[in-house]
Amino acid sequence: MAGEKILIIEDEVKIARFIELELQHEGYFTEQANDGRAGLEMAVNGNYDLIILDVMLPSLNGMEVLRRLRQSLETPVIMLTAKDEITDKVMGLDLGADDYMTKPFAIEELLARIRTALKRKRPLSPSPNQIVIGCLKIDLDKHSVVYNDQYIDLTKTEYDLLKYLVENRNIVLTRDKIEEMVWGFDYHGDTNIVDVYIRYLRSKIDDKYGVKLIHTVRGVGYTFKHE
Ligand code: CA
Repeated sequence: MAGEKILIIEDEVKIARFIELELQHEGYFTEQANDGRAGLEMAVNGNYDLIILDVMLPSLNGMEVLRRLRQSLETPVIMLTAKDEITDKVMGLDLGADDYMTKPFAIEELLARIRTALKRKRPLSPSPNQIVIGCLKIDLDKHSVVYNDQYIDLTKTEYDLLKYLVENRNIVLTRDKIEEMVWGFDYHGDTNIVDVYIRYLRSKIDDKYGVKLIHTVRGVGYTFKHE
């Protein structure tokens, strides 16, 4: 086992360092953040297998970090609470923490809980209600779109357009057809709206991740193709 990457968000440097040394000794890779904002930033961009998150943090407290994290990530989180306060635990678990530990704790217990949380980690295999194309994953139940495990924030129209393109991938779709299917028969705009929204999608996916998924077919329309 081990080899997993763990982020420690803890402002008490001594405790953070202690946890880090123990985890490294067990064979985990570790990184540290010493305040909430930096921790959130690292968590969202760092592709960690597990996050250890202290509740009392400067700049952004642990609850807030957890709440924002859960908008885009399912990474297991173990919360550290300084005091044995039931409200912190309940709140943390409500917000999607996997487990919590009350300081001071025995390091063996933290290690055991890390092993359990890592085992529970959800498998990445797609459910029937997901469309997976390369690194792009669309969850049709949750209406969420993820690229490389990073959540993409789309408006409802952008999502509808992407879903329609993806469901009809490799087929050339005219602007009129797209407008009809995404905006509906009642829509009395002009087909420029399609171009505008294609641009939005491209900036959020193609341009952002340096891929080419949405292709222009000159004089006709668009097609979604993964090569
Ligand atoms: Ca603290």
